[in-house]
Amino acid sequence: MPRRKKPLTSKPALGLPSRALVRRAQLRQQSPKRARESRERSNIAKQLERDHGRPLCEIRWDTGCTGWADDWDERKSRAAGGSITDEANRITACRHCHERKHANPAEARRRGLTLLSSDPDPSTEETA
Ligand SMILES: [Zn+2]
Repeated sequence: MPRRKKPLTSKPALGLPSRALVRRAQLRQQSPKRARESRERSNIAKQLERDHGRPLCEIRWDTGCTGWADDWDERKSRAAGGSITDEANRITACRHCHERKHANPAEARRRGLTLLSSDPDPSTEETA
């Protein structure tokens, strides 16, 4: 390769102004769609608790389970394409079991608490 006679310099891309790119507006915390889903989920959770009281932990990982749900979790995560508002995808959990589930993904999968993106959505599965 021939030796460079002049050092590399930074030049603006074709057609762009040469000034540095500076962000002038704040980034949105979340998209309007995601914000709407989160509000909907929160409203469903409040309504369920008004109608049925505090839900029970559905995971029951081990004897550390408190029995009462603190969290809502999804069998199929949003990242895997799951819905956070679909009742069939919802699983209620105490904080202890929720943490165990996420700390032990292989065991959670074996117990049927976690679905992968390649699995069918829980809403379309037959419930036994
Ligand atoms: Zn529990």
